[in-house]
Amino acid sequence: MTEIHNKQLSRREALLWIGKVGGSAAMLQAAGLFGLFATPVQAQAELVKLKPLTSGPKTVLILGAGISGLVAAYELGKAGYHCKILEASHRAGGRNLTIRHGDFIDELGNPQFCNFDKDPDLYFNAGPARIPAHHTAILHYCREFAVEMQTFCNYNKNCYTQDDNAFAGKPVRIREYEADTRGFFSELMAKSVQAQAKLDAPFDDIDRQKLLEFCRSYGDLSSDFTYEGSDRAGYQSGGILSPGVLKKPRAFADLLQSNFWAGAMHFGELADQAAAVITPVGGMDKIVDAFLSRLAGKVQLKAQVQKVQLLPQGVEVSYWLDGQLQVEQADYCLNCIPAQLMAGIENNFPADYVAVMKALQRGKLSKIALQAKERFWEKDQIYSGISWTNQDITQIWYPSHGLFKAKGILLGAYSWDPAISDRISAMTHQQRIATAITQGAKLHPDYGKYIEQGNSVCWQRMNHMLGCGAVWSEDLLKSSFATLQAPVGAHYMVGDQVSYHPGWQEGAVRSAWYAMESIQQQEHQKQRQVAV
Ligand SMILES: Cc1cc2nc3c(=O)[nH]c(=O)nc-3n(C[C@H](O)[C@H](O)[C@H](O)COP(=O)(O)OP(=O)(O)OC[C@H]3O[C@@H](n4cnc5c(N)ncnc54)[C@H](O)[C@@H]3O)c2cc1C
Repeated sequence: MTEIHNKQLSRREALLWIGKVGGSAAMLQAAGLFGLFATPVQAQAELVKLKPLTSGPKTVLILGAGISGLVAAYELGKAGYHCKILEASHRAGGRNLTIRHGDFIDELGNPQFCNFDKDPDLYFNAGPARIPAHHTAILHYCREFAVEMQTFCNYNKNCYTQDDNAFAGKPVRIREYEADTRGFFSELMAKSVQAQAKLDAPFDDIDRQKLLEFCRSYGDLSSDFTYEGSDRAGYQSGGILSPGVLKKPRAFADLLQSNFWAGAMHFGELADQAAAVITPVGGMDKIVDAFLSRLAGKVQLKAQVQKVQLLPQGVEVSYWLDGQLQVEQADYCLNCIPAQLMAGIENNFPADYVAVMKALQRGKLSKIALQAKERFWEKDQIYSGISWTNQDITQIWYPSHGLFKAKGILLGAYSWDPAISDRISAMTHQQRIATAITQGAKLHPDYGKYIEQGNSVCWQRMNHMLGCGAVWSEDLLKSSFATLQAPVGAHYMVGDQVSYHPGWQEGAVRSAWYAMESIQQQEHQKQRQVAV
């Protein structure tokens, strides 16, 4: 803090400070103001274009009905390939899983049936819940299949931040926390600029004035560059029929005591999380349904792959179905079985390929959903969005749909820290619900009295997945991504695990497109060879 007062302030330092406290969006705004670097523009990647197959019938076995498998069956089918999906589970979709009344939650050693009321609004997305606008590949299918979409609110200033180590553990509205930290930070910045006789080159007096104006506008400072509260934080009283009285700012030192600034405060600015993100009306699995309605007869459920053999031409796959071992051959195979599970399935893949599969770790992640008999959060002026806490539950999500209805499903916990997820995973469902209620009560007094029932999903215990997204270490990514992405013979690993965007459906779709384009190239090459 004192350092910035004593030193000359260069552009880069100014940007770093703004970035640290204001988040990357503030930093980019300031950077644009200084002409230091342009706001990044996302290039729109091409959509897949498969040409119709002209080389006679070709067969493709697709292992796993995850999003990548469904995309592959749909696109290859359109291009004239004969496709069959083998899926081990009782359902298609993989991690794209929406849970409603009566659904079976297939956690190993901890099975459960969803006990929510039978009502189309009472569901939760146990896997994907939101799609950012630049995920053009998955959105391409939502558009093509006319999947009805709505906005999903990731960030609502009326939600809370609660930290056991700050404000005596009491929840604070995000709007207050953010307005006050920005205000105090801007005040410090402005005072520091004013105290400098001269700023580092190439700042000039015009830059300096702009920087001061930026501080005032960014922090909502008064004319003497002090922060005395802001209507961004809200009113203590009045403001409509009587004069408004602003909320009193909290002390900057107290605000810094909370860990909210260190990450959660900037969550809504991450490229994949920034507004507006969208989601299918009625649950993410509406995308799965849309694929399935176009893949009639091509998806074999409860078909558990046991063995994958590369042949001189094509692939042979053995799988259990109805207690019988079935064996099928195909010209090509696309495989989205989680790599760490595939490594344990009998195969004759090259050793380096299997070594990457074994080395690829999986994330651990838990969600606990609670059915509330009353939408009490709406009476607390929260309509959708996310509250944050430093307790194990990490987040509470308020539904973006069903406003003013009688009941609603809260996401009472969303934890991706492996240690936390291990703690949650070791509990029974009832213990998880009880924990979510106890911890949630620090944000919402009387929480428990509204909760009727709940359901939970720990992905590291989910059958046929045993984990969440693939976790590529930096070293493994550099040394081995290309190995897993390349085909071995006629076999391709696909899924978000074979993308630079694991944990997102976009990665799953684009990995399937990549493999299909490679197959198409192989077919063209073969045809050219025949012609020669
Ligand atoms: C909690 C969570 C939150 C997420 N949030 C988002 C989000 O907000 N937005 C977003 O876009 N994405 C999100 N994702 C990521 C998204 O779910 C994945 O990117 C996508 O669903 C992965 O698809 P996939 O094609 O890789 O296949 P997967 O979903 O990994 O499917 C693999 C399939 O293989 C099957 N299988 C396994 N073993 C066998 C076997 N032996 N034989 C046959 N079949 C087998 C499995 O049953 C499964 O169906 C989230 C995921 C999770 C878990």
